[in-house]
Amino acid sequence: MEVGIVGLPNVGKSTIFNALTAAGALAANYPFATIEPNVGVVDVPDPRLKVIHGFIKTDKVIPAALRVVDIAGIVKGASTGEGLGNKFLSHIREVDAILHVVRCFVNEDIMHVDGKVDPIGDIETIDTELALADMETVGSALDRAERTARSGDKESIARAEVLKKCKAPLEAGLPVRSLDLNADERKLVRSLGLITAKKVLYVANVDEADMHGTGPLVQVVRDRAAKEGGTVVPVCGKLESELAELGGDDQKEMLQSMGLEEPALATLAREAYKLLGYHSYFTAGEIEIRAWDIPVGWTAPQAAGRIHGDLEKSFIKAEVYTVEDLVKHKTEKAIKEAGRLRLEGKEYIMKDGDIVHFQAGL
Ligand code: GDP
Repeated sequence: MEVGIVGLPNVGKSTIFNALTAAGALAANYPFATIEPNVGVVDVPDPRLKVIHGFIKTDKVIPAALRVVDIAGIVKGASTGEGLGNKFLSHIREVDAILHVVRCFVNEDIMHVDGKVDPIGDIETIDTELALADMETVGSALDRAERTARSGDKESIARAEVLKKCKAPLEAGLPVRSLDLNADERKLVRSLGLITAKKVLYVANVDEADMHGTGPLVQVVRDRAAKEGGTVVPVCGKLESELAELGGDDQKEMLQSMGLEEPALATLAREAYKLLGYHSYFTAGEIEIRAWDIPVGWTAPQAAGRIHGDLEKSFIKAEVYTVEDLVKHKTEKAIKEAGRLRLEGKEYIMKDGDIVHFQAGL
């Protein structure tokens, strides 16, 4: 699961990225996370882990994680090579979803690239650049498809149809995600890495004085997101970076004094996870309790493959119970005795909150 942070310069992207990654996961759990400086790993907080830990003793509790890529360099003209141009575009094509940071804080000392704080104007500037980039991709793919379609190649004909379908909204300044596409069409769009086809979560970077995002600047972002069926999470970048530096009890105290239950970044990570259509199952034992993120709809063998490829190939069955079973019966043994431990096979579709032991013929 990977999300990319986009936004105009000086809206608080780096501040939020740094706070996210400072507060984030232990690098030791994710050996590849620290290779690139603009990639961070963020925990997805899940209160159920604590519940499970109340019944199963271990020293290691590992939440699900989200990879976050800081994609700098989008300015007006980025799609035609200004700013970092194509470099950022190739990064952004690979992510699963986009966190669009919008400046909703007013501070005379911090310059705004367009001279004024204007969330909708900012969103439109970014959207235009992304749509232009997609138009280029769609344009050249369409040329290619039409050329091969002339020989009567059915696949190319179908491909050209889908590309034409994508071209229309882009020309009207609308994102490809506004189209109603079927599964095959979506697959093609994904293979092209169209940026405006990706889901977007708006991150409204708010003033310290408007921590809950009740002010008018956030409201316009909410109205905008509602039109696209999207979500807005208000985050005060400045405050979050202070919170991330504190950690532990000091952080709790500061949160309490502000009347907050958790850092806004925790909410952000969870919302991003939801946006991507993921849910979690758990493995729990003496060695570790761990949440594993999988797309909704995955089968038990696919879920096993999330742990290790070999587990998917040699999958035999899964022993499954739920967090509720554990709360009610307290031990796995008691769950079994109560007849609540299910044996599931290859066709089983995983449910959110399943606690699983996979059996494989390794
Ligand atoms: P980027 O160019 O989008 O990465 O923006 P930065 O993260 O570098 O932030 C630009 C400036 O805005 C920095 O001086 C930050 O300290 C400041 N800034 C970021 N978030 C906030 C915020 O929530 N409130 C205020 N007042 N300033 C912020």
